[in-house]
Amino acid sequence: MHFSLTEEQTAIQDMALNFAKERIAPGASEWDETAHFPADVIRGTAGLGMATIYVPAEQGGSGLSRLDGALIFEALSYGCPAIASYISIHNMVAWMVAKYGTTDQVKAWMPKLASMDWLSSYCLTEPGAGSDAAALKASARKDGDHHYVLDGTKQFISGAGAADFYFIFARTGGEGAAGVSAFVVMKDTPGLTFGALEKKMGWNAQPTRQVIMENCRIPASNLVGGVEGQGFKFAMSGLDGGRVNIGACSLGAAWSAVDKARSYMFERKAFGKNLSDFQALQFKIADMATDLEAARMMIYRAADALDRADPQASLYSAMGKRYATDLGFDICNQALQIHGGYGYLKDYGLEKLVRDLRVHQILEGTNEIMRVVISRKVLSGNRP
Ligand SMILES: Cc1cc2nc3c(=O)[nH]c(=O)nc-3n(C[C@H](O)[C@H](O)[C@H](O)COP(=O)(O)OP(=O)(O)OC[C@H]3O[C@@H](n4cnc5c(N)ncnc54)[C@H](O)[C@@H]3O)c2cc1C
Repeated sequence: MHFSLTEEQTAIQDMALNFAKERIAPGASEWDETAHFPADVIRGTAGLGMATIYVPAEQGGSGLSRLDGALIFEALSYGCPAIASYISIHNMVAWMVAKYGTTDQVKAWMPKLASMDWLSSYCLTEPGAGSDAAALKASARKDGDHHYVLDGTKQFISGAGAADFYFIFARTGGEGAAGVSAFVVMKDTPGLTFGALEKKMGWNAQPTRQVIMENCRIPASNLVGGVEGQGFKFAMSGLDGGRVNIGACSLGAAWSAVDKARSYMFERKAFGKNLSDFQALQFKIADMATDLEAARMMIYRAADALDRADPQASLYSAMGKRYATDLGFDICNQALQIHGGYGYLKDYGLEKLVRDLRVHQILEGTNEIMRVVISRKVLSGNRP
């Protein structure tokens, strides 16, 4: 068991951190205020191989590991969790194409996903199917031998309206998980429209909208993998990685919050002393740093389990996501507290981190659903 990063991993993380500091952090608060999606900045990560991080090189990806991916998302999130999280969703979609697409699909789609000429969205949730995703109602019916027609509405879709490539789960068969298939729908397909921009607490630098399909006719060759009934399996395996990634995004935001709090403790005076002289605050930052390190270990371990196809990978991903997103939110909130009233102002960037991280406890499976996954394993004697 090795607890240190390799030289290459350190270099990869440094590269992502530099990008975060130079290209993402300077715009983050304005994008949050104006609900601007900086597609040009996001596309800038493609040139660094960050659009298809853990897609194998022979399929046109960067050929890095899940652990490398976690290090990259953590670093990008140091600049802005909303931007890093969107990039993580794009990577999740690219990986699902690589893993489950036919050879022809990978050939046709991967180059544009790798260059981010096409930005992507992952479309599972519906107005009546969130945590219980297998209850989804969107339908896909065969129309002759060469087409499917999709109908239904997807809810809360990150990147919707801005993305070009929609990875959509729809029902081709009966009730439950076995009736779900996965399709790719391009933005300009007649019958595909988007709901109004959702007004959110955080994550304002990326759009969230409904994706609406009305008589949306697509080529049968857009059925991912060319086989019906596999979609739910794809969706869930994508989410294991998605959980690690969103946990990593919480780590990066918490890391920046600890850094901000530490600097502030040397700047701000009260009762004739620096804040850094008060033991209560020394202990607070000690706990924040300890929690951050514990969360990091869980996320890195889950990423490593995915890399090794460890049978416990889903369990570690759920544990890591639950822990890192809860602790990450708490660390940002504590950093805000250390800033006193100034932490509550937009100028210091702490309130944005708290708002952005709140949703990490809700999506990619809520933290209650993480507990459902974990308790099922533990109670079945599976672990630990
Ligand atoms: C900003 C944002 C972006 C998103 N992006 C995407 C995206 O890109 N693609 C996508 O497909 N989805 C996306 N989502 C949807 C997200 O994944 C869902 O909101 C989430 O899965 C929860 O579903 P729900 O909102 O319908 O809540 P519900 O499922 O209605 O849950 C309500 C509450 O009940 C709890 N609950 C439900 N079932 C159980 C249970 N069995 N045991 C205990 N508690 C339970 C939940 O934890 C929650 O607290 C996004 C959501 C948001 C807010």
